[in-house]
Amino acid sequence: MNYAMELVYLVSSVLFILGLKGLSHPESARRGMHMAELGMLFAVVGTLVGGKIVTWEWIITGIAIGSAIGAAMSIFMPMTAMPQRIALSHAFGALAAVLVGVNEYIEKGHLGELSNGLMSAIGFEVLFGALTVTGSLMAFGKLNEMIKGAPITYKGQNAVNITMFLVAVCMFVYLIFFPYNYMMFYAMIAVSFLIGVFIVLPIGGADMPVVISLMNSYAGLAAAATGFAIDNKVLIIAGSLDGSSGFILSIIMSKAMNRSFGNVLFGAVGAPQVETAGLAEARPITKFGIEDTKFVLEQAERVVIVPGYGMAVAQAQHAVRELSDELEKRKIKVEFAIHPVAGRMPGHMNVLLAEANVSYDQLLEMEMINPTMDSVDVCIVIGANDVVNPAARTEKSSPIYGMPIIDVDKAKTVIVMKRSMATGFAGIENPLFYEPNTKMLFGDAKTVMQELVAEFKKR
Ligand code: NDP
Repeated sequence: MNYAMELVYLVSSVLFILGLKGLSHPESARRGMHMAELGMLFAVVGTLVGGKIVTWEWIITGIAIGSAIGAAMSIFMPMTAMPQRIALSHAFGALAAVLVGVNEYIEKGHLGELSNGLMSAIGFEVLFGALTVTGSLMAFGKLNEMIKGAPITYKGQNAVNITMFLVAVCMFVYLIFFPYNYMMFYAMIAVSFLIGVFIVLPIGGADMPVVISLMNSYAGLAAAATGFAIDNKVLIIAGSLDGSSGFILSIIMSKAMNRSFGNVLFGAVGAPQVETAGLAEARPITKFGIEDTKFVLEQAERVVIVPGYGMAVAQAQHAVRELSDELEKRKIKVEFAIHPVAGRMPGHMNVLLAEANVSYDQLLEMEMINPTMDSVDVCIVIGANDVVNPAARTEKSSPIYGMPIIDVDKAKTVIVMKRSMATGFAGIENPLFYEPNTKMLFGDAKTVMQELVAEFKKR
């Protein structure tokens, strides 16, 4: 029976690895996702055939409740709320690791089988698991606007965070040598729960994606430690894959947002929420209508579309694809410039544009498009704001200074499509809107795009 379980686990682990590889490119991402799903199915089946089942009633009840919650989340949560959903999933996953760790500690403690090695695995699991639970719940609360999104800071914050972490580590080391100190074990869990809250407090909403992928990494590490604690190989492999891929993603996102990874890692600082106020009253803007937009687009040879969060909210991706088709019919070259943190989750724009059947050849990453931006005739910014804010390049005092952006302001004409002069996620003014080559086209992204397509189809 155990050989069967090991074999099923092996197949499951291979599927996880192939799944991750598939996720590295939009074209193979769907296949990768299905492989990972199949891998998870094998892992569950492997555990069920492993012969360690004590009661089927609880397992069936658990599967029924978990599936109902999962299905409801996938049906009712909009794509734009994906970061919150992911944060919640990390909290649940990490809570499971903590509970398994506590159970293992109690069980093995009663049997007097808490070796130093086993205690290291359990200690690591509950320490990282517990801080991931509260850290992820904090991230969820901030993104869902249940907690103030702006960084909450106070004097000596770094010292407090580092001290708490050192205290937890000391407790962990103590437990490795004196595992039967139950009070110490539960105190370590309590301190770890507190660390999760405190490290996310000073991190602003704009840095939350990095925190979420970091929590993903911590949850993976906790799962890998669980694997060591209960001698489950698929947990060790899947947890390590999760831990390392989450860590790499955090580094990539830190770079894309120009945040110091060290600061995010230790929760030391967040982006200050400073408003570059006053621009709105001080400078005029140029408004465009549908007909003006069509006229300018018809004169262009090369058009670049920059989608952002607003396109996702309005679900305008199909209308945007239709506009691209209309332009291409007129022999106008159309490309899409994709910023790594446009929208509200990594790869958000790629997913939406793929759903609308935009060809992958048309999608260009920020680094590819920026050097050629001055040869672009018209750049249409659809519901993007922070990722095209030139203040990130020019204003040292700006909270997003240093964040790489798509240099749309260098195009000959920029058409910014949004509903109002409102700010984006970072809550800061965008000087792009006041540039002489910028034309503001106000309205809901989907409605405006549909009107524009209809205008092109008139003849
Ligand atoms: P922003 O949030 O900066 O701006 C989006 C703009 O869309 C708003 O200014 C809004 O203006 C406009 N908008 C909203 N609804 C509509 C609508 N129905 N029709 C037309 N326009 C609309 O988005 P960006 O994509 O430029 O930047 C992403 C931001 O989110 C970055 O700050 C990033 O750090 C952050 N972030 C990214 C995550 C990720 O992983 N990608 C996760 C979490 C945060 P108006 O109200 O005037 O219409």
